[in-house]
Amino acid sequence: MSELRPSLMDYTQKELESFISPKFRAKQIYDWLYHNYSSTYEDMKNIPKAMKEELSQEYLVNPLSIKNKETSTDGTIKYLLELQDGKTMEAVWLKMKDEQHDASGNVCQEAKYTICVSTQVGCKVGCTFCLTAKGGFTRDLSAGEIVAQVVTLKKDNNHKRNRKINIVYMGMGEPLDNLTNLAKAIEIFKEDAGLCIGGKRQTVSTSGLSTKIDKLGEMDLGVHIAISLHAVDDALRSELIPMNKAHNIQSIMEAVKRFPIDTRKRVMFEYLVIKGKNDDIGSAKKLVKLLADIKAKVNLIYFNPYPGTPYDRPSRADMVSFQEYLVKHGLLCTIRDSKGIDISAACGQLKEKVEGEV
Ligand code: SAH
Ligand code: SF4
Repeated sequence: MSELRPSLMDYTQKELESFISPKFRAKQIYDWLYHNYSSTYEDMKNIPKAMKEELSQEYLVNPLSIKNKETSTDGTIKYLLELQDGKTMEAVWLKMKDEQHDASGNVCQEAKYTICVSTQVGCKVGCTFCLTAKGGFTRDLSAGEIVAQVVTLKKDNNHKRNRKINIVYMGMGEPLDNLTNLAKAIEIFKEDAGLCIGGKRQTVSTSGLSTKIDKLGEMDLGVHIAISLHAVDDALRSELIPMNKAHNIQSIMEAVKRFPIDTRKRVMFEYLVIKGKNDDIGSAKKLVKLLADIKAKVNLIYFNPYPGTPYDRPSRADMVSFQEYLVKHGLLCTIRDSKGIDISAACGQLKEKVEGEV
C-alpha cells in the first residue's frame, strides 16, 4: 500500500543487472552511485538518455537529502536527513582518530571515521531512557535508505570510496526489527564493485531481540553485534526495555553464544549507566558473573539526559569505580565520553555508544 518509490540503492549489482541490460550498464550505474556518489541521473554521462528516462520513471537515484547538519568542535557531524515522504531521521559522522603525521610533518595515517546510521524512523521497542522511543514508531527504512545514509555522508565529507569507513547501526530504530532490509543493506555495503565495506567493519547494535539475533547469525554476514544490555536482572531490564519481558537476559545470552563471531573478536555489551539505578558495585558484580563464559567487552555509557527524563547521569566517580571493578575481575571495559557533546541533543545518545566499536 506504500506509494514510496524504490531507489537504485535498493539493489545489489546482480539485481540491477536483472533489470538493466546490457549488463555492463548496471556496472556503470554502480560506479556512478558508489564511486562518484551521483545523486541525479543527469550526472550519469555515459548512460544513454533513453535508459535514464526509463529508469527514472521507476527508481530514484539517492532517496535522501540533507535537511540540516550540526558540526561539533571535535569533528562530529550530526545530519538530519529527509526521506522522499518528508519523514526525517538522523545519521552521524564521527571522527574516531585524528590524522597522524611523521617527524617531517607528512601525513602517515589518515583520520579514521565511523558513520552511525538509522534503520527506522522512530522505534517500537519503547525504552524508557531513549528519546527516539518518545516519538513512537513511524516506519522501517528500506535497504536503499540505509545505504544512502553512508553514500550521502561520504559525499558530503569528500570521503573517497577507497578510504576505509566503519558503520555502526546505532542510530534511530531497532535494526533487528527491520532485519530483511538491514541484511540487504549489509550486503550492498559489502559489494566489491560498490562501497566495499566488509562485515568486519559493520556493527549491529540491538536491544536484544534474541530470536532475531539467531536469524542474523544464520545469515552469516560476518558482521559484529553489540548488545544493549543496560541491566543485570530482568526486573530492572524490563523497566528500562519493556520488550525484555519477551526476550529476557538469559535468552539473549544464549543467542549471543550461538552467534558466529570472528574468533579474534569480542561481543560488545553496551551498559548504559543511570544514576541510582544500575551504577552500584552489586550490579558490577552480577555483570562479571553474567559475562563469565562469553568473550565479551563492556562499553560503559553515561546516560545522556534530556528534558523530561526521570533518569540522571551518573557521577564520574561511580563510573570509574564500576569500571575498576569489572577490570579487576578480568573484563575488558571502556568508558565512553560523549563525542559532539556541544551538538548532542537528541542524537547525543548515539555517539557515546559508538567509540568502543572500532
Ligand atoms: N536500537 C538499538 C540501536 C539504536 S539505539 C539499540 O538499542 O541498541 C543506540 C544506543 O543508544 C542504544 O545502546 C541505546 O541504549 C543508547 N541510548 C538510547 N538513549 C540513550 C540516552 N539517553 N543516553 C545514552 N545512550 C542512549
Ligand atoms: Fe529503540 Fe534502541 Fe531507543 Fe530502545 S534504545 S527505543 S531499541 S532505538
